[in-house]
Amino acid sequence: MSLPPFLLTHSATGKKTPFEPEDPQRVTFYSCGPTVYDRIHVGNLRSGLVSDLLFRYLKHRGWNVVYARNYTDVDDKIIKRAREEKSTPEAVAKKYISEVELDYAAAGMQEPTHKTLATQHISEMIGLVEQLIQRGHAYEVQGEVLFEVDTFKAYGALSGRNLEDLQAGARVEVDAKKRNPLDFVLWKPSKPGEPSWKSPWGEGRPGWHLECSAMVQKWLGNSIDLHHGGEDLIFPHHENEIAQSQCGSGVAPFARHWVHHAFLNFSSEKMSKSLGNILTARDFLTQTSGEIARYVLLSVHYRSRMEFSDEVVLSAISALQRMYEAKKRATDVLKQRSALPDLRAENTWGEFIQTAERAQQKIEEAYAMDLNTPEAMGVFFGLVREWNRIMSEPRAQGTPSAHHGAQKFLEIFDNTLAPVLGFGGLAPEKALEDLKAARGRMSGASPSSETERPKPEWIESKIAERAEARKAKNFLRGDEIRDELLAAGVVLKDGSGGTRWEYL
Ligand code: AMP
Ligand code: ZN
Repeated sequence: MSLPPFLLTHSATGKKTPFEPEDPQRVTFYSCGPTVYDRIHVGNLRSGLVSDLLFRYLKHRGWNVVYARNYTDVDDKIIKRAREEKSTPEAVAKKYISEVELDYAAAGMQEPTHKTLATQHISEMIGLVEQLIQRGHAYEVQGEVLFEVDTFKAYGALSGRNLEDLQAGARVEVDAKKRNPLDFVLWKPSKPGEPSWKSPWGEGRPGWHLECSAMVQKWLGNSIDLHHGGEDLIFPHHENEIAQSQCGSGVAPFARHWVHHAFLNFSSEKMSKSLGNILTARDFLTQTSGEIARYVLLSVHYRSRMEFSDEVVLSAISALQRMYEAKKRATDVLKQRSALPDLRAENTWGEFIQTAERAQQKIEEAYAMDLNTPEAMGVFFGLVREWNRIMSEPRAQGTPSAHHGAQKFLEIFDNTLAPVLGFGGLAPEKALEDLKAARGRMSGASPSSETERPKPEWIESKIAERAEARKAKNFLRGDEIRDELLAAGVVLKDGSGGTRWEYL
C-alpha cells in the first residue's frame, strides 16, 4: 500500500508542513528527555510516548531512523535531591534513570538509537562554548560564560517573537554581568559541593540548554530532520538550542522540523510536580498496563491539551476489551475447520474485506495527517463494529471466505495498528485477562464479587435494548450498551444463536 505524504505541524508556523527527510537512509531525530531527580509523572510519560510515536511512525514509513534522547543528569533539582537523600548527584541521577527506564519499558517504548547523558558530553559542551566565544557570540565574566543574544538576529523565530518584544516583556532579574537581560548561561562556576568540571573558565558546570546542542551535534550532526519536546520547551530552551547550535557550527537550520506536544492536565491544571497534582507513571502503569497507558495517552491528538481522569482510563479499558474480544473471535475463526463455500457468505465477506482495506487506508491517512491518532483509532473501531456485525450473521460463519476476512482483520492489528500505536499486538486471551484484572484494580474491588454483580434481569433488559438498537441500525447505541455492560463486568458474545452473556 502506498502511504500518503506525511504532514506534520511545524511549531514555527503552526501549519501542517510536509515532512521530508534529507536522507531517508538516515532520518535524524532528537527528543528532549527528562531531568532525572525523581520518578516521572503521567505528563512526562505523555512526552515519552509522543517521541516514541514519532520514532515508530518514521520507521513505519520505511525510513531508517537515528534517534537520540537525553537524560539531564546535572541540574539544581538533582543537587537538591542528593542533599535531601544524603546521597550524591551522580547516584541520584543513576537511580532515577533506572526508574524512568522501567516505566518506559512498561509503556512499550522502543529503545532510541542513542540514549545520551549530559555528564558524558562535558568536553563537547566546552568545545561548543569555545567555538561560540571565538565566533563572537559568547563572552566570559568572572568564570561565567554567557550567550549574547544580540549577535543572533533570528533569535525568537521558533516561538514567533522578536528580540525587541522579548526585551520589552522581559521580567528578567537585573544581572550586572549580562550585556542584555536575555543573555543566557552557557557555563557557570560551581558552588562548593556541587558537581564541577575543569574548563578554560575555571571549575564549573554547563548551563542546561547547552547539553542538547552538544549532544545533537555529536550524535546526529549540525542540521537534523526533526526535533521534539513539550510545549513548555519552545521558549527559551529550544530558542537557545537553535542560537547555540547555529552560531557554533555556522550551519542553519539546526532542525528542519520542530514538533511540540501539549500538556496533560490533572484536575484542570497542568500535571506538574511543583503544583503537587501528580500521578506517577509507576502508579499509573502498575494499576493499569502499558497498553492501557498508551491507549489513554494516544487517544488525544498530541497537539491538544488532555484532561486525565479515572473515567478516561476506564473507557480506554472498555475500548481495549472490545478490541481484543473482536481479535479473539478472529483467531477463533482461523482455528475452525471451514465448511463448503457458500455464495452468499462469500459476497458478505468480500464486502467486509473491501471495508477493511478502506479502513486500513484511512488509518494510514490519519497517521500521515499530523499523526492524528484519535482519528486512526476511531476508524479502527468502526471496523471492529463491522466485524462484530458480520460475526452475528449466521450464514457468514464457518466458510472459507470467513478465514480470509479474519486474516485481513488480524493483519490490520499486526501491520497497521500495533507497530505505530503500540497496542493491539498481544495474544487476545492474555490481553483480556490483563484488562479484566486492571478493571478490578481500578474499581478497587474484585469485579466478580457476588454483591457487585449486576442482576441477570437487568442484563437481559440491556441485551434486548441493544438488539432493538441494532435492528434499527443504530450500531453506535448498540456499542454503547455493550460498553456499559462491560464496565459493569458483563461480557457479551454474539453468535448464531443470538447474544449470550457471561460475568467477567
Ligand atoms: P522535565 O523533566 O521537566 O524536563 O520534563 C520532561 C519532558 O516532559 C519535557 O519534554 C516536558 O515538556 C514534558 N512535560 C512535563 N510536564 C508535562 C505535562 N504535564 N504534560 C505533558 N508533558 C509534560
Ligand atoms: Zn533539549
